Amino acid sequence: MSQAPNFTEVDPGLRVLMGPGPSDVSPKVLRAMAAPCIGHLDPYFLTKMDETQTMLRYLFETEHALTMPISGTGSAGMETCLVNLIEPGDKVMVCVNGVFGARMADIVERLGGELIRLDFPWGRAVAPETVLKKAKKAGPDLICVVHAETSTGAVSSLSDLSQAAGEVGALFVVDCVTSLGGMPVGIDANKVDAAYSGTQKCLSCPPGLSPVTLSSRALDKLNRRKQKVVSWYLDLTMLGSYWGAERKYHHTAPINMIFALHQALRDICTEGLETRFERHRLHHKALVAAMEGMGLSMVVPENERLPMLNTVYIPQGADDLGVRKALLNQYGIEIGGGLGDLAGKVWRVGLMGSSANRRNLTLFITALKSILE
Ligand code: PLP
Repeated sequence: MSQAPNFTEVDPGLRVLMGPGPSDVSPKVLRAMAAPCIGHLDPYFLTKMDETQTMLRYLFETEHALTMPISGTGSAGMETCLVNLIEPGDKVMVCVNGVFGARMADIVERLGGELIRLDFPWGRAVAPETVLKKAKKAGPDLICVVHAETSTGAVSSLSDLSQAAGEVGALFVVDCVTSLGGMPVGIDANKVDAAYSGTQKCLSCPPGLSPVTLSSRALDKLNRRKQKVVSWYLDLTMLGSYWGAERKYHHTAPINMIFALHQALRDICTEGLETRFERHRLHHKALVAAMEGMGLSMVVPENERLPMLNTVYIPQGADDLGVRKALLNQYGIEIGGGLGDLAGKVWRVGLMGSSANRRNLTLFITALKSILE
């Protein structure tokens, strides 16, 4: 037998997480994760499941019965919504203004959906008038959009896009991975039929779960399917039986991740959504003012900017990787680089969940100034 490997124990030290996610996780949430592991049908756990669903409905601003966390990261939520709602040949319009819209389009094709891809400039919102015009011609079954494009920092208007989907009778599918918990998503007010998120952004919980919510209209489509959902793991007809009254075993729930999410949601409920959204707006404004004061320019026009993800052009002469390395090595601060078309051109500075605080902001601006000098 070969010798057993002998490595040092995990101890990464503390970071200041100001990138596109994960965001800072509070000790309380980490403690909840370290609670004793119990069974996935233990009565105590079942109560925590119900409470988690109630708090998720508050966060999504919805009364949808089918609201629950999927085991997996945000992409699992994306795949869940699409795999359950698309059958081969369905017409699916996907609005692409960054990396994550493109990911949705990729999944639609893999599922045999008839993809109607609408491309918009990166760093700009999706234009609802274009969506409506094209949708009237194409007659899609679904219209999919990313509310908060993390790759660019642009927000799109859910109320306007929802109106377009309503006019053509399409199901409205929304990626709320970055927006949930940091700005209003208004799932019921905006008549969203399916939405998904991730725990590691404005919920300030480690990555690993993807909250989803589906309207009764979406469930009707799911129940009318001619073919089984092609993914066994993400089939909501079965997952709904575990998260609903039946408590029928499907897969072993990631118990301790759900404990962590429960605590993260409790913290959000204690703060209150309005106060939380205002905190994100306030720190975003202060960050933009400070960066513009240093002569940096923002990528996204002011009225289309996300509060929790700030994309700024890398100033001439600055070394992208060198600056990010210095921030990490000298100050423990993580920010993000550009993705896709914006790689090497921008930095992405996150102010998500617990990370949106005065201490982080002051430290980041001071550190950036001193590195760029
Ligand atoms: N959608 C958006 C808008 C995202 O920002 C991300 C991740 O950054 C995802 C989807 C995918 O989530 P994950 O990386 O957790 O799978």
